[in-house]
Amino acid sequence: MEKMVIYTDLDGTLIDFENYSYEITAPLVRKLESNGIPVVFCSSKTRVEQAYYREQIGVKSPFITENGSAVFIPKDYFPFEFVYQSVIDNYYVIELGVPRAQILSTIADARTKSEAEVFGYNDLELDEIAQILKLPEEASKRASTRDYSETLIKGDKTSESFKAMTELLEQEGLACTAGGKFHTVISNKSDKGKAVKVLHALFSKMNAGAVSVGLGDSANDKPLLAAVEKPFLVQKPGNWWDDIEAPNLVKVEGIGPEGWVKAISELTDISL
Ligand SMILES: [Mg+2]
Repeated sequence: MEKMVIYTDLDGTLIDFENYSYEITAPLVRKLESNGIPVVFCSSKTRVEQAYYREQIGVKSPFITENGSAVFIPKDYFPFEFVYQSVIDNYYVIELGVPRAQILSTIADARTKSEAEVFGYNDLELDEIAQILKLPEEASKRASTRDYSETLIKGDKTSESFKAMTELLEQEGLACTAGGKFHTVISNKSDKGKAVKVLHALFSKMNAGAVSVGLGDSANDKPLLAAVEKPFLVQKPGNWWDDIEAPNLVKVEGIGPEGWVKAISELTDISL
């Protein structure tokens, strides 16, 4: 079988958009990993959230957090040395983004100057976040424990003051991007595509000629889909595709996890 590495978005792609279930994809993911095909999570989700899904599904591969802010590589994964910026738990971390503390202080300044009425995770108690996310407190804690970004979840995003705040953030090298449900403030150097390229260079060193495969469902996956050799776009609930163009992009008939299983079982000849 062809050597490959699969880079995948989570929400709405590997995991169901509505109920966060991975029931449909988990058995195939486990089969791929046990057949030597790494499944690399590449998502806006945090280190703590991804650790949860990695453990539940049984994934051992490196992973990319917070929209390409950092690449986490298990310490004994690659049999050679490489450059990294920090060590967290049992991972070497290649950082593309900037630490959250710096982002929070920049937001605080921009909010004061623009008088934008906007709130993020950092301004709310855990029970308030849980109410907004409609998740239990444990899951809400995983979502709000961020290393390289802040999520804005309240406030009038169409107001002039919000636009003024966004401009101030941009002047400081931060981007305010629309995600599936909320806005993320993040370094403009965080990039799913760049992170995939950095990591794939390491995979290629270990496994010459390994093909990069990518799967996503939304506009924020475009850099990921543009960075891989074989990109797949799965459908949104209601059977439609987000409006994305990327070289060689294959639009898969199937919503989220169903599309994922269809694309990957056809590509790899591994089925359930
Ligand atoms: Mg998604």
